[in-house]
Amino acid sequence: MTGVGATGLFDPDRVAVVGATDRAGSVGRAVLENLDSFDGEVVAVNPGRKAVLGYRCHDSLADVPGVDLAVVVVPPSVAVDVVREAGESGIENVVVITAGFGEAGSEGAARERDLAAVADEYGLTLVGPNSLGIMSTPASMNATFGPADALPGSISFMSQSGAFITAALDWASDQGIGFRHVVSLGNEAVLDETDFVEAWGDDETSVVLGYLEGISDGRAFIDTARDVTDETPVVLVKSGRTEAGAQAASSHTGTIAGSDAAYEAGLDQAGVVRAETVQQLFDYARALDGLPLPDADSVAVVTNAGGPGVMTTDAVGDSSLTMASFTDETLDALAESLPENANRYNPVDVIGDAGVERFRTALDTVLGDPNVGAAVVVAAPTAVLDYADLAEVVGEAQDAHDLPVAAVLMGGSRAEEPSARLRESGVPNYFDPARAVDSLDALARQRRVGEREYEPPREFDVDEAAARDILESAADRGETRLGVEAMGLLDAYGIPTPAGGIAETPEDAVSLAHEVEGDVVMKIVSPDILHKSDIGGVKVGVPNEDVYDAYEDLVSRARNYQPDAAILGVQVQELVDTDRGTETILGVNRDPQFGPLVLFGLGGIFVEVMEDTTVRVAPVSEREADGMLSDIQAAPLLRGARGREPANLDALRESIERLSQLATDFPAILELDINPLVATADGVQAVDVRLTIDPDEL
Ligand code: ADP
Ligand code: MG
Repeated sequence: MTGVGATGLFDPDRVAVVGATDRAGSVGRAVLENLDSFDGEVVAVNPGRKAVLGYRCHDSLADVPGVDLAVVVVPPSVAVDVVREAGESGIENVVVITAGFGEAGSEGAARERDLAAVADEYGLTLVGPNSLGIMSTPASMNATFGPADALPGSISFMSQSGAFITAALDWASDQGIGFRHVVSLGNEAVLDETDFVEAWGDDETSVVLGYLEGISDGRAFIDTARDVTDETPVVLVKSGRTEAGAQAASSHTGTIAGSDAAYEAGLDQAGVVRAETVQQLFDYARALDGLPLPDADSVAVVTNAGGPGVMTTDAVGDSSLTMASFTDETLDALAESLPENANRYNPVDVIGDAGVERFRTALDTVLGDPNVGAAVVVAAPTAVLDYADLAEVVGEAQDAHDLPVAAVLMGGSRAEEPSARLRESGVPNYFDPARAVDSLDALARQRRVGEREYEPPREFDVDEAAARDILESAADRGETRLGVEAMGLLDAYGIPTPAGGIAETPEDAVSLAHEVEGDVVMKIVSPDILHKSDIGGVKVGVPNEDVYDAYEDLVSRARNYQPDAAILGVQVQELVDTDRGTETILGVNRDPQFGPLVLFGLGGIFVEVMEDTTVRVAPVSEREADGMLSDIQAAPLLRGARGREPANLDALRESIERLSQLATDFPAILELDINPLVATADGVQAVDVRLTIDPDEL
């Protein structure tokens, strides 16, 4: 398949509607009617008719040369044949509106596989099936059976729900939001969200907008979107959850790194600006489409109303933005131009008797301040303030300073006209200050995305063969759950582990303990005992003379707890100074869409209580690993808050990257927990490991 952009899916000269009909209420008729305003030529195909709605009707696609796009609205039973005919006739682009495929039982699923195979055979750029259709405003083309046209604009919009498109377009038209391309993705038998992100990243689209229920290939999406989001913002709302969360998870990482965490991480790594609600989706789209990006995260607020000014300040506090602190020059200038009782500090209160000129001066002054990256103008209606004039002033200020300005001209119908006027200068107007700030926040997020440099993950020199040996011999023994007996896996990938080994007799344990300096830690080793300390299976700080007895005690505890437990022995381990360090957790989980995930967080006994963890899709780059270290709430602990010794962040970061490499190299590792990974000033030590493997993936 060639890329969407190259084939002219959105820019055809001649469109054929296969299944054209004039039957009232039919999809075929709706599509034909919607294509009325199309710039190019429309041809109707239907073997059962001579003419439809004034179009001469052709028997088959083979009879009409030069078709660039075929829109298929025939019954499901003949749809695949029609698409084959399109391929035979050399048509590159097909939109299959016909339903009754993957969404309709096993017969439909088989039909969809046939459709994909035909598309593949002829290299078709195919949208659908079960799609509402596509629109392209530059070509005045509405090839959908929806009820209304989109306004022209430069936002391109894809949706996995056709119903959502019709509703959203209707609403967007009222809001004056226009579109360039619109795609109802349908069942995505061929083209999916990644293809359109790629295509729209390459054309004149200003903002890519998406309503998605799932992403079929998460890794491909990240790799493609990462390149696009550099320049073109991608805003997505993702609804629904996948099955992943329901999968029984035996590790902490498994339960914590559920499916939504995968999406959150994956979309963030891809540089997507994620919207939680439909309102945000369009708020962000409008802001990103109409406004320049801020050059700093600091916001100036100019208002004639104290209360709303404070609300705006609160909203800034809740966002990733900050309230700008003005330079002395700005403060002096404000003091000169504003009345005595005005507040010249941010939020600037020009007070209730302010006319439009006072707003103009204040806004010009703050936007000229080098400490200001964006501004919000908050106004309540007064007798001396004309909203129409204010709209003019805000628009001019925005143009003059090339910084984003959002408006909150509060009110009902009196704000409508001015709102439309603001819109023309790209300035969004909201009733609620929180929405204005949230939209500026989306701009700031996009700026950060654009600024970040992607570097591919580092590749460490590891002993892959040794790791494979460990996994394969476990699989040979029929084991799918491994514990500390698999420490060698971490050694092979250069994640530091304490000195020690596994003893199979008390005598072994004593001699192992003599090889290790100082007191030791002893742990029961059994695939049947997952949480060793829960059954008293961990002894910390055992002096050499007690090792023999400790061995016997640990084994008898395990026997008491579970008489038929398979006991592999007792691990004798160097004592790590946990008092000096922080117990962290480092883990791996697998997501059906995104593949391996790496989890990092506060570990030890706090894991379940605090749930202070963060996730990335592997393989993670050095910068992404670094982001994980600062993402968790306990980050200040790692940096040495309150007189603690700071942890060795380089060693932590490298362990994350190395584990990411292990997870990427071995799809057989379904879940893995290193808990705890003790982080001290000197480095890190993995003192415990637990994993689940799928032998079929080896
Ligand atoms: P489990 O998680 O199965 O209970 P661990 O091996 O994680 O077993 O041990 C439980 C706790 O014991 C750890 O969280 C840590 O506080 C402590 N611990 C384990 N091994 C060591 C060690 N080598 N040095 C110091 N403390 C340890
Ligand atoms: Mg543990």
